[in-house]
Amino acid sequence: MKELRYLDEVSTLVLDREKCVGCGLCTEVCPQAVFEMRGNKAEIVDFNACMECGACVNNCPSEAISVSPGVG
Ligand code: SF4
Ligand code: SF4
Repeated sequence: MKELRYLDEVSTLVLDREKCVGCGLCTEVCPQAVFEMRGNKAEIVDFNACMECGACVNNCPSEAISVSPGVG
């Protein structure tokens, strides 16, 4: 799926690393490999690959991620 690209710089994806508890679920559920774990926290490593599917938001236990599909 990594090869699928969408418009650059329009995703509404926001990650609050302060809230991240390091569970790693976002790295597992994201179909676009947007996140990686770094220093026990998630980090956005491929922002423009995000297609705003909401899977990370729905699985994050600490509400550290938000996305507003349809805004971009
Ligand atoms: S909204 Fe979907 S594509 Fe974007 S980072 Fe979350 S899981 Fe990945
Ligand atoms: S799902 Fe949420 S708490 Fe878990 S690693 Fe990702 S951002 Fe952090």
